[in-house]
Amino acid sequence: MGWTLDGVRFEHQGKTARVCADGNNVAWICPSCGMPLLLVYLKGRKGSCASRPRRCEQCLSDYSLEPGYDAIGEPQEKGVKRAEVMSILQRASKQ
Ligand SMILES: [Zn+2]
Repeated sequence: MGWTLDGVRFEHQGKTARVCADGNNVAWICPSCGMPLLLVYLKGRKGSCASRPRRCEQCLSDYSLEPGYDAIGEPQEKGVKRAEVMSILQRASKQ
């Protein structure tokens, strides 16, 4: 059993991000190019933390959730509460 992100508020660059969250999945639109992206908040999955970003295939920006899954882990492992607000971090491509 993983995290349920329904009801979490998401932010991108300090503003509310419009996302579709279901279970540990977060879908949203790349603000740079309009490409739909899926971030999965599970160990090792793309977008789960800064070291495992979701790369936009169109504009090559990298996105990840903060706090990263690598710092939080599974709910039952560390007894931590789910974050009420999560940020979507963006790193522009280095092309
Ligand atoms: Zn993009």
